[in-house]
Amino acid sequence: MRALILSDIHSNLEALTAVIDDATERGGFDSLWCLGDTVGYGSDPGPCIKFLRQRNALAVLGNHDYVAIGKASAEDFNYAAKAAIEWTANNLSPEDAKYLSGLPTVIKAEPFTLVHGTLRDHVNEYLLERDTALATLELLETRYCAVGHTHLPFICREDGNKTTFIEFAEDREYNLDEERLIINPGSVGQPRDRNPRPSYALYDSLESTIQRHRVEYRIQETQEKMRDVHLPEYLIDRLNQGI
Ligand code: ZN
Repeated sequence: MRALILSDIHSNLEALTAVIDDATERGGFDSLWCLGDTVGYGSDPGPCIKFLRQRNALAVLGNHDYVAIGKASAEDFNYAAKAAIEWTANNLSPEDAKYLSGLPTVIKAEPFTLVHGTLRDHVNEYLLERDTALATLELLETRYCAVGHTHLPFICREDGNKTTFIEFAEDREYNLDEERLIINPGSVGQPRDRNPRPSYALYDSLESTIQRHRVEYRIQETQEKMRDVHLPEYLIDRLNQGI
């Protein structure tokens, strides 16, 4: 079984399409796993949701999805994120909102657990350092965990009663074994590691390997669409810089 692991699509349809095409060229996938924040920031929430629904994606809720469907307020969001999520909420069809409302915040997809933030706080907590990683490993009931939210790719290995973050390098094959670990595939729709190219991971259960790849996409088309619907210029501009 091959699983395509995506996170933080953020309504960026061109980035999502480029990722799917690239994964298909690399041998395809049987399952699509989405780690949340399908909407927010970009101009195509509906088409991105449709894409996931058509492919029967195993998807969890992210913090932007949560606010878009009115389950949480946007008071912790900065000005640009708030403007974008208000626009998103006003432009979700009832059907799209219903789909998001029906998503869980955590899914077991053996041997992985899928969650947006951490296992301690599924939607809002950022997994960025050792203590948070350790807390998630303590709650982890499967061998591996896949998280999103930070838009930064990494692999975090359990190392005795410590955790060690290592680089999740592009185009390199990592063998997964008995050792428990947490991975972040990076973001499809708004990368923040100073690289504007969408990032994703492919897991192969037969080979027990995982790889991360990046793709070029039609970024200007995405930016024009965002400008057409008057999304904040800051959000349009940051896509160029990968921040
Ligand atoms: Zn996000």
